[in-house]
Amino acid sequence: MRRMAKEGKIHWADVIAEDLIRTGRPQVVATGISPSGPIHIGNLREVITADAIYRALRDKGADDARLIYISDTFDPLRRVYPFLPDSYSEYVGRPLSEIPDPEGCCRNYAEHFLRPFLESLSELEVEVEVYRADEMYKKGYYRDAIITALKMRDKIVSIIDAVTGKTTKSGWSPFNPICRSCGRLTTTTVTGFDPERGYVEYRCRCGDEGEVSVIGGGKLTWRVDWPARWKILGVTAEPFGKDHASSGSSYDSGTRISKEIYNYEPPYPIPFEHVLLKGKGSMSSSKGVAITIQEMLSCVPPEILRYVIIRTRPEKHIELDPGFGLLHIIDEYERSDISSDRSKALSRTSKSPMIDVPFRHIINIVQIARFDPVKMLEIIKRSGYRIEDIDLLKQYSKYAKEWLERFAPPSVRFEVREEVPPEAHEIAQPVREALSELSKFLMEKELDAEMVHQQVYAIAEKVGVEPKEIFEAIYLLFLGRRSGPRAGWFLVSLDRGFVIKRLTSL
Ligand SMILES: [Zn+2]
Ligand SMILES: [Zn+2]
Repeated sequence: MRRMAKEGKIHWADVIAEDLIRTGRPQVVATGISPSGPIHIGNLREVITADAIYRALRDKGADDARLIYISDTFDPLRRVYPFLPDSYSEYVGRPLSEIPDPEGCCRNYAEHFLRPFLESLSELEVEVEVYRADEMYKKGYYRDAIITALKMRDKIVSIIDAVTGKTTKSGWSPFNPICRSCGRLTTTTVTGFDPERGYVEYRCRCGDEGEVSVIGGGKLTWRVDWPARWKILGVTAEPFGKDHASSGSSYDSGTRISKEIYNYEPPYPIPFEHVLLKGKGSMSSSKGVAITIQEMLSCVPPEILRYVIIRTRPEKHIELDPGFGLLHIIDEYERSDISSDRSKALSRTSKSPMIDVPFRHIINIVQIARFDPVKMLEIIKRSGYRIEDIDLLKQYSKYAKEWLERFAPPSVRFEVREEVPPEAHEIAQPVREALSELSKFLMEKELDAEMVHQQVYAIAEKVGVEPKEIFEAIYLLFLGRRSGPRAGWFLVSLDRGFVIKRLTSL
């Protein structure tokens, strides 16, 4: 059994890295994702998990460690996903690399979903060596592995049957030829094999018969492809979704095929749990329950997205709540110290240093300033924070704006009204007096959030109303609703003249 990291002591990525270093092998950490649709945060967990291990290996002096990503571009299209036009039914069963881009902008279907994913990885500073499965097949990387698998077909069948407890069909082959007539690799049956020439004969359900080369003419079935790839690329560690890890799974059969067919020590397994979307369940592009990586990266800096994944041990679910839950994680990141929080250290990127103003503040500031960076800067100065880098502020203002539009709970959104909102007329007479007392106070004193806040309590006592009534009145007067950001800070953030005028406007 693998040792468990004690919570708060050794980080899970360090535990795995130490285990790996102890094997004495040069380390190749691999990840692989099929680009069959938009690649979402759930898929990202695999790559970020691998990257955390890779960074931990490098930190421990394993300078020859590598991080590779194999894009399963040669996998067949399984079905017409909801995001595809109906006309794509004719492509079902064809390899993703051999299908046109549904939007026509990239060289093929696989590339269309791979491109934004690779861009996100670069933004997340995950430096991977990328392999495309279709190129590996077409360049002959798999040649020997395919010939071995075809020769040892019966032994592979006995392994798979033993692992799964099922009986493989008699016509089964570890290699699926791509029909030269209809282009599918899911409808062909192998009828012959010439190991010297490296050619495989097939018959297809479309009626075609012929032969294809083992170089680019077809693909190993997943249960054999995976272990073959371990040997071809020298993979020593690989995170994968727990579905692949259960008993009878492809990792079980892969381990035996790796040892008994390919004579290769299988990689260190790192099974990880799903990423769930709060209240919606497991993320899945095909079910439309997913947040894409780009969506998330438009709302938060890359290190936060890394942190969301790295702070949770792989064997635990991540239940992502992109609303308040995400704000809590950002708070945690902002508060924690890199020397004691290993997750934070493993999440860091060089490109986007965190700003010195809490994200929660930025969210209020952008709304008060109506997304005007110059006004934002004034508010930040008034509220006692210091920020020099206007570009950084603009970037964070963009994050806040996107988060507010996409994920913010309604209670966080507000708008400072240009005119006195009609709702303010509900404010009772004694509370109106309290507001005018408050305006006098603001005229006399230098503005300070805490002083203003305390003054509300003092005035409440003096006038004989509840402090809560005054706070509500402030929000009604400026926002047309009964709640809002912390009142002292809020009033201080606004233009002083405007505040005084508004407080006495009833
Ligand atoms: Zn495209
Ligand atoms: Zn065919």
